[in-house]
This record gives sequence, structure tokens and C-alpha cells, in this order.
Amino acid sequence: MLILMSSDHTKKQLADVLARVRKLHLKAHVIPGRNSVAVGITGNARALDPGLFEILPGVLEAMRVTRPYKLAGRNFKHGDTVVTVGPFGIGGPGLVVIAGPCAVESEAQIIRIAHSVKKAGAQLLRGGAYKPRTSPYAFQGLGRKGLRFLAKAKKETGMPIVTEILDQRSLDDVAEYADVLQVGARNMQNFALLKDLGKLRKPVMLKRGLSATLDEWLMSAEYLLSEGNDQVFLCERGIRAFSDHARNTLDLAAVPAVKELSHLPIIVDPSHATGVRSRVASMARAAVAAGAHGLMIEVHDRPDQALCDGMQALRPDDFAVLMRDLAAISAALDRGMAAPKHGGR
Ligand code: PEP
Ligand code: MN
Repeated sequence: MLILMSSDHTKKQLADVLARVRKLHLKAHVIPGRNSVAVGITGNARALDPGLFEILPGVLEAMRVTRPYKLAGRNFKHGDTVVTVGPFGIGGPGLVVIAGPCAVESEAQIIRIAHSVKKAGAQLLRGGAYKPRTSPYAFQGLGRKGLRFLAKAKKETGMPIVTEILDQRSLDDVAEYADVLQVGARNMQNFALLKDLGKLRKPVMLKRGLSATLDEWLMSAEYLLSEGNDQVFLCERGIRAFSDHARNTLDLAAVPAVKELSHLPIIVDPSHATGVRSRVASMARAAVAAGAHGLMIEVHDRPDQALCDGMQALRPDDFAVLMRDLAAISAALDRGMAAPKHGGR
């Protein structure tokens, strides 16, 4: 339920509304607006009667919010969320590019690739230390050692780190090293993990589940927000469909659709969405044109030797060419690339 206060309501009238919400054992969220104030209510299992609030003085209107998510929806927040990662803002006007290998394979590998993606203009470095693999026999990631290598790459380049959180066991370790904790597609509905991540005060990138609807995806974001973590952004990474020409099907229309429904930033991962190196650049360019706030792209300098996802990794030279295209498309849309806020390196 969303309660709109009249523009001339008094402090006491607002306090009375909040007291009524508390009495119902529900949670009130005060949303300041340009002309007045709204109060969002969460915690109710069933629809509330608007009359409960409309009879109170100072209340203009009480409306049911028909979407299952509330804090993630546009009703509950004016303006767009900007997630701060180091000196960069994700969800602001500038495009943010996260790049790096699928998996951290060695200290030398992640440092080499970090330097090359930074030189090309990427702002954030990615690399998995804990990998969710379809086969239990495939490389599962270097674990803690991989996190330490990421920290070295960050020290050398100044790039903030995006890395995947697989389970609660490794949460403390990953949270210590990561600037952004990545929730992978397979974990999008791991609600116990989402609840724990919601208690952190660190940005979370929530990838779309393999066949998740937008409602399901935003309900997962709601888990994070409802625990108090508002530093959340979404990543469209392709969904399961009947096409047999790609690893997944990039749902580009999800970008404008999510932007209508939610204030959370949305980026696109064209690497997992195609699974094929030759198609990554065209989908990356299209994503920027469609209004994505950023991209996450896999880059490897020796893709034929990669321990994970080599087929879809761009070589550094091709990535650099793509970055020039992305900057041009972003500039044509009056956006440009996100620059560090306080100087940065
Ligand atoms: C990844 O980013 O390397 C990854 C495993 O992605 P997803 O969870 O989208 O499959
Ligand atoms: Mn990958």
C-alpha cells in the first residue's frame, strides 16, 4: 500500500499515519516527494483496506500497489538508484563497463588482463574465484587464493573488483575482497543467500535467473532491499529459449521494461547471453543503444587456454575496439562513459 499525504499535512498527521502502520505490525517507508510525502507499507501478507488510512487527517489517498515487489518498484522511490562502487556510479548518466576473465586462473593472468581492460577504458574488473559449473569435474575456481590475486590486481590497477558469491560458507571471504558481490543466474532464487547479502552494506549485482520472469527477478531484488541493502543493480545475461544458435537468448527488451518498473540500475552481459565471441560486440553495442547503464564483458588474452568460457571471451585488442564503439554510441546518446568522481587513477 502507498499512502499519499496532502501537500499541507502536518508533522503530527504524518506521525499518526506511521503509528497506525506500526500498530498493524507492518513497516513504513517515508518517501519524500517534490510537493508532499508518501508512505510505503511493506510486510502485509494480504491486501490492506485503503479506508484504514484514508480516514486519517492529512491523508490524500491510499492506493494498493499491485506489483508483488514494493521497495524495488518505482512507486516506492522517486528518481533512479545510483550504486556507488569506488569512484564510479552505476545507474548515473555515464556508462560503466565491467571486464575481465570468467575465472581467475593465476596471479599473472588476472594482473595482465586487468591492465589491458583498464587501458581500454573499463572501470571495474571482474573475475570469478568461486565458479558455478554445470559439471562437477570442471574447474571450480581458485577460491581464497583467487580472491587474493584479485586484491593484487586491484592494488596494481586501482580497479574495483566484481566477483561471484556462491554460497554462505564463503560469504565473509568474498565480502572482504569484493567491491561488488555478484549473484549468478543459478543463485538468483537462493533466498537464504539473498537475505544474508541484504544485511551487508556492499553493492550486489543480481543476475537474471536462467528462465526468470521480470517479476521473479525483481522479487529477488526485493529480498536484498527488504533486509536493508539498497546498493543493488541488475544484470540481464540471457534466458533459456528455443533458439539453437546461442548459449542463451539476450532479452534486450528487458532493459526498457525493467527501467519502467524499477529504479534499480540494469546492465547487460553479452558474453553469457551469446556464448560466442563473434557475437559479443554487436550485442554489447545494442545494449548501450537500448539504454543499459553498463555492460559486463568477458575478456581473456589467451582464450584458447582459458579454464572457463574461453569461447565467448574477447581478446584485449577486440575489446579495445569495442570500447571505442561503445563510447561513441554513448556519446551520441548524450551519456558518455562514467568517470571517477574524486579523481581516481
Ligand atoms: C559468470 O558471470 O561468469 C557467470 C557464471 O554468469 P551466469 O551466472 O550469468 O551464468
Ligand atoms: Mn563466465
